[in-house]
Amino acid sequence: MAIIHCYACGKRISDKAPSCPHCGEARSSDPGAQAQGQALKRTLLLGRLNNGAMLALVAAGLGFLALWFLSSRPEILSESQPAIRWAAKGLLSLGLTGYIVCRILTVWHKRKGG
Ligand SMILES: [Zn+2]
Repeated sequence: MAIIHCYACGKRISDKAPSCPHCGEARSSDPGAQAQGQALKRTLLLGRLNNGAMLALVAAGLGFLALWFLSSRPEILSESQPAIRWAAKGLLSLGLTGYIVCRILTVWHKRKGG
């Protein structure tokens, strides 16, 4: 019995174990299957990042529209409700930040994966 490293989580597992006891990833001694599994994971991750970026962009767009709407109709934004403007600003900046972060992570993972 030999100790190998799980290709998914990197922890040490027995080469006789059918799957990793730490992360549950099915162990495979076939490098092709390992590469395939990693490629699949990468594709899924990139897909999630893309979805996240789109979602963040929508949030930023909504925040921008809300700000635009509020500035075109100042009577809605009574002085007793500055929270609405702050919420819209927060949505806009959070969305933009989220979008940029997702894009950076996407580029980073694409470069890392080669
Ligand atoms: Zn593992």
